[in-house]
Amino acid sequence: MLEQSNELAAWDRDHFFHPSTHMGTHARGESPARVMAGGEGVTVWDNTGRKSIDAFAGLYCVNVGYGRQKISDAIAEQAKNLAYYHAYVGHGTEASITLAKMIVDRAPEGMSRVYFGLSGSDANETNIKLIWYYNNVLGRPEKKKIISRWRGYHGSGVMTGSLTGLDLFHNAFDLPRAPILHTEAPYYFRRADRSQSEEQFSQYCADRLEEMILAEGPDTVAAFIGEPILGTGGIVPPPAGYWEKIQGVLRKYDVLLVADEVVTGFGRLGTMFGSDHYGIKPDLITIAKGLTSAYAPLSGVIVSDKLGSLGHGWTYSAHPICVAAGVANLELIDEMDLVTNAGETGAYFRAELARAVGGHRHVGEVRGDGMLAAVEFVKDRDDRVFFDPALKVGPQIATALAASGVLGRAMPQGDILGFAPPLCLTREEADTVVAKTADAVNSVF
Ligand code: PLP
Repeated sequence: MLEQSNELAAWDRDHFFHPSTHMGTHARGESPARVMAGGEGVTVWDNTGRKSIDAFAGLYCVNVGYGRQKISDAIAEQAKNLAYYHAYVGHGTEASITLAKMIVDRAPEGMSRVYFGLSGSDANETNIKLIWYYNNVLGRPEKKKIISRWRGYHGSGVMTGSLTGLDLFHNAFDLPRAPILHTEAPYYFRRADRSQSEEQFSQYCADRLEEMILAEGPDTVAAFIGEPILGTGGIVPPPAGYWEKIQGVLRKYDVLLVADEVVTGFGRLGTMFGSDHYGIKPDLITIAKGLTSAYAPLSGVIVSDKLGSLGHGWTYSAHPICVAAGVANLELIDEMDLVTNAGETGAYFRAELARAVGGHRHVGEVRGDGMLAAVEFVKDRDDRVFFDPALKVGPQIATALAASGVLGRAMPQGDILGFAPPLCLTREEADTVVAKTADAVNSVF
């Protein structure tokens, strides 16, 4: 057994090119590598049998929790009957058609169709192409620029990596900046002047956006993309009035709005979509993660009748096994009443977290919404002085927490510990996560 696991470790070190992993550090055994083997509810375990509460639902995606037989049965059944047929030139399966209908039934008003892909990144690539196609059909080929936000995360492909507004995902790759622009991050804690109210800071963000559109020329700006709540950029809810003011500017200049709901779609904020939660009326919606709770890779773009395209398709669009997982997953979300639980238990979890660590001298802010929470660490809470990033305070706390059996996430930029538990989290499980977080914070400071 020991020999076998040594062999596995050697294969891992020598041959597995892990995403978002420094391979030198990993090969030296310095990154927290684990061979994961099973899961049930909010708990996962590795091949040594060590258990952890997964308080980040994988990568905010295993929304229904692990080990749900209804979904694995649906996948097995579909694989037996018809593992694959393409969806080109009008083909489909019962599951792909049913899932499209289920998504539109749950989506904000005005949406009519779903274009399926496999990842959040490819869905955002689809968005860009649909938007460009739309403006070409309307005879305004100059209207092509897309405005994203600093701190936004929209994927890590060539175009979607450019949309992403985090330096880590740009630097060293020379990703194309044009025709993509970045505007102010709606990050009140870090970006607002201390004299500004949230409303004033929202107005400031809307003014910066309007300035950018005018400087570029409204006839050249096609769309604005944003997550309802910043996710990978730090789990940052929008300041009061933000979306109303931003949408006012977009309407004025005939700029389409893409709501990237890869994290927020299907219940994470206590409403079916984040757009419902914040009063957003998007023209296109990106979905992925919670669509199948990651039991199979599936993404989509939800659009209204006015958008269409030809000459765009993936071999695996509406892959039968993935859409079968999607149907079972959306049914399970309803059966388990997970949208309600995300709102109620999420609120409890965030309140308890704030109570347990909010007063700590190195905690600048405890924030979140629905089943999303973050703790931001600062050197000096009164003057909002941040730690030197080289100290890696956030990763140190995440590592201490993981050692105690709870998996949170050190967000990639800034000393921020993020939580995005499965939507089935119970109050007792929330209490455990909170108690272990407080211990981890106290062990590092
Ligand atoms: N959009 C958002 C808001 C995301 O959080 C992510 C991934 O975390 C993506 C897009 C990209 O999704 P994927 O990693 O499936 O390509």
